[in-house]
Order: sequence, then structure tokens, then C-alpha cells
Amino acid sequence: MTLLAARLATLGTENAFRVGDDIARVTPLLAARGLDVVRLNLGEPDFDSAPHINEAACAAIRAGNSHYTDPQGIRSLRAAIAEHVQRTRWLAVDPAQVVVTTGGKPSIGFTMQAYVDPGDEVIYPSPGFPIYESWVTYVGGTPVPLPLREETGFTFTAEDLAARITPRTKVIILCSPSNPTGGVLARTELAAFARVIRERCGPDVRVYSDEIYEHIVFDGAVHDSIAAEDGMAARTIIASGHSKGFAMTGWRLGWAVLPTAEEAAVFKQLNINSVSCVPPFIQEAGRVALTSAASSAAIARMVSAFEERRDWVVGALNAIPGVRCQLPRGAFYVFPNVAGVCEQLGILNVYAALPSDARSRTSPSRMLQSFLLEAYGVATVDRNSFGRIGAQGQHFLRLSIATSLERLRDGVERIARAAVDRDGFSMFAQASS
Ligand code: PMP
Repeated sequence: MTLLAARLATLGTENAFRVGDDIARVTPLLAARGLDVVRLNLGEPDFDSAPHINEAACAAIRAGNSHYTDPQGIRSLRAAIAEHVQRTRWLAVDPAQVVVTTGGKPSIGFTMQAYVDPGDEVIYPSPGFPIYESWVTYVGGTPVPLPLREETGFTFTAEDLAARITPRTKVIILCSPSNPTGGVLARTELAAFARVIRERCGPDVRVYSDEIYEHIVFDGAVHDSIAAEDGMAARTIIASGHSKGFAMTGWRLGWAVLPTAEEAAVFKQLNINSVSCVPPFIQEAGRVALTSAASSAAIARMVSAFEERRDWVVGALNAIPGVRCQLPRGAFYVFPNVAGVCEQLGILNVYAALPSDARSRTSPSRMLQSFLLEAYGVATVDRNSFGRIGAQGQHFLRLSIATSLERLRDGVERIARAAVDRDGFSMFAQASS
């Protein structure tokens, strides 16, 4: 008998957190060379939660609001979420369909546990949030990655989706705005996907619509949800939360709207089996975040800062030889293609010469990620961190723009120097072999 359960071998992780350990390891080494680390790896706003939200939590604690709550979430917050979804997606939602969770992440695992039996197929975007693939394999589901096309701003077509639907399809995951690409699915695309799903899928197939970046869209756009398409509310789980839009990542507050109250009761039961409930003062603050007029001003300030940085960074990255970067339409990431850099630094050759087991543990973009961090002090996240299956031959990095323009300029300037430092990479590769 072994110590750990066999199924753990199928559980993935989120490398954006692991990069934190690498940064801690290299920081003293870089400091000895007079370099600090520019963190372009972080998936969280560089803004703090707004004062009116903080005050609501403090007031709730002072008022003795320190007890368990309804595991589904306090009624007033669920009503505020239902109201918000009605206002933003034109959908009638009953608070009985809403479940409050500890961040946006739990709904992914809840969905897999609630709907997916071993052998059921789950379609998910690739590159995409790594926790999708992790949970699909963990519950014994069959992962069916749906490639996002760089040329079209990281979208896919209705035909791409249709080609992956089979009688075993159980869940289809969409994410817009997207982590890691910043791509946004247009209303016309959502309408086309909805048509395919209505035509090809039975009523028990669920769409998991990850809308956690709903507040962060650029160029004056408004957020659209597939749930608003004809007949789709009855098939769609809308998952979102406070982490990104309200800059509340550390608060751990998220929510899901389920197609029926019965399905919401399953999510509630999963809450009961894990965390019991979200802390009451956090739920109170979450209600204030959703209902206070002060929140829209805070969101608008943050989104316009991200937009200004995006406008600068895309041009600056495209000016680097070997880099090609699309213009993101939402979220706070850019996802440049770095195939040219991998080529000109000799990374592709070094990778090809590795023994096959070493090759399976890394990738050219991961080698570039390590070189940038260890030699130039810039933290990024590589392509394989956003779904491994089918990622071979794709060379991208994710850079977060949730950092000041000044730090961003410093980071991009370092990347530009690293991109032509063939000797530097060769020394790095020799030292790490
Ligand atoms: N979905 C996506 C697409 C994300 O990027 C993230 C966070 N990086 C989450 C879900 C999880 O959010 P939370 O931190 O609220 O759990």
C-alpha cells in the first residue's frame, strides 16, 4: 500500500503560484547582482479592495457577525448577485439558483464533481485556466481541449466547437474574457456557439461559463454571456466572483448561478462537505461591493489603468524581434507568441537535444520563462501552464499587466535585451544542464 492515493497522479496545479517559489529562490541570487524581480506573473489586480468594501467587512465584524451562515450564502448577497446577473445579462434569476463560494475556483471542481462521470468528455479552451484540465482528469473525465486561434484574437469557430461534440460530451467550458489570452468572445460568436449546442447536445449537457473577468473589458465594450442566448440559461452555469473586478483576490469570494435550484442545492452540499460557508463578514462586504455606487467608480479607474498599460505593452512587445502579440480585449494579461525568440536564442535546438524524459518535463517556452527569471529577473508564465494537452509546438508566455506602467516598462525592456542574448542563453543552458 502506498502513502498517497493513486488518483493524485491525475491532479494538476496552477503554476502561477509555483512561480512564486521560484521567485523566492532566485531573489537573493539576483540581489547579489543588483537586480530585483519584475513580477509579470501575477493573476491579480495591483489595486487594493476599495475602502467602502473594507469598511463593510470591519463593521460586520464589530457587530458580532462571526457565526456560520447558510452554506448556500446569505440571502441578501444571493439576492444582490441575482439582481446583478439580471441587470448585466438580462436574465431572470432566483436567489435559490445562486451559490456563494470561497473564490471563483471551487465552482470548477464542483461542476466536475456534480456532472462528470468517468469517461464523460469535457471540452475546454486551450490555452485556458489550468484548473479546468486538472479537475477533468482528477474526476476521471476525458479532456477535450478546444484550441484558441492566435490569428483571430484567440477565439474559435462554431465549427471548431461542433467538431469536438460527441454523445459523451457532458460539460463545455467557456471563458470570456479569457485567462491567459485576454480574448473576448463576441455576441455573434456566442450566438453561433449557442446554436451548435442547442442542435448537437441533449438538455443535460452543461455549459460552464467562466465570467470571472466580466468587469474588465476594454474599448468601451460590455460583457456578454452565453447564458443570455436563446434557451441557454437552462443549460449554463454562470461562474464569477469578486476576485478580479473588485480587486478582492485574498478575500476568497465567488459565486455561481445554476440552471435550477436543485442543481444549486448540489453545490450547497459540496460547500457543506468542504468549507461549510464563506465567512459572514466577507459576504456582507461582497454585497456592498455589488450594490454600492462607489464600486463602479473604483472599477472604472482600475480598468482604465489596465487599458492604458495594454495600449503601451502590445506595441512595445511587437517591437521586439521574435515576438508577436495580439491586442487583448479584456482581463489583464497579454499572451505574446515567442516562437521567434525561442528560435533566435537557440532554445528550440537545446530542447530538441534533451533526452525524451527531460523533454516531457519542460518545453521551449518554459525554458525561456526560466531564462527570463534567472538571468534577467522577469517573472512570466509559460504556455504549458495553461493546459498541457495538445500544447506541443506552441511557444507563448503570459505576462500580467496588473503592475505599474513603470515596472512594466522595466520588465519589457529586460525581455527585449534577453530576446537577443544568444550567448547568455547558451551559458544559462549549460549551467542548468
Ligand atoms: N477562473 C479564471 C479564468 C481565473 O483566471 C481565476 C483566477 N486566476 C479563477 C477562475 C479563480 O478565481 P479565484 O481567485 O476567485 O478563485
